Amino acid sequence: MDSHGTTIAARVPYVVAYNKETVALDLVVIHDVWALSGRRLSYTDPRADDWNLSVLWARQKCDRRGKVNYQEMHTLRQRACMLHRLCQVCEGPALDPGTGRLSWVFHEKTHATTGRLSKPPTCMRCIPEALDACPRLQHQAHVYTSPDYKPWGVKGIVVSPSGPPTLHDVPLTDCHTLEYTLARALIVHVSDLRPEMVQNDR
Ligand SMILES: [Zn+2]
Repeated sequence: MDSHGTTIAARVPYVVAYNKETVALDLVVIHDVWALSGRRLSYTDPRADDWNLSVLWARQKCDRRGKVNYQEMHTLRQRACMLHRLCQVCEGPALDPGTGRLSWVFHEKTHATTGRLSKPPTCMRCIPEALDACPRLQHQAHVYTSPDYKPWGVKGIVVSPSGPPTLHDVPLTDCHTLEYTLARALIVHVSDLRPEMVQNDR
């Protein structure tokens, strides 16, 4: 509430997709002499910027207006956050300059000190807002920090000649599967995860 007693709408996190931001699916398998199998997945009108880290990325419209789909991350904004260490809420630098660490907000406690994450970091400045805005985090939230991370792989739709497309986590070392994957999110590997005192058990 502001000083006039009116409710201020929470900011929509940078990474969240809007309903109008649809994904193009006009895909085809093309011949490619550089591919391990001689073929790879492509859009029907391929552009060089469709590929990043040797994988095809979903072309998703960018139009941050209208109805918000909180269940979905925007593929290209998620990738930008992970590649450039940007906060998933404000798009600002996520690395804390004082500690040199990144902060992560989880719905559940973990005892793991390493792991793979696809939800981008949240900067310390945005953590109170994130805890207030998300209904699940209002119930329970746990903040962890880690040093910098390494890209591990992608969450993507793998097209197989023998069955329907399926969603998989594909490591960047699996070059063959990556040639048949439409990436929807970059997964990173974090280590030295530590719980922080900011908690929200309400
Ligand atoms: Zn932020």
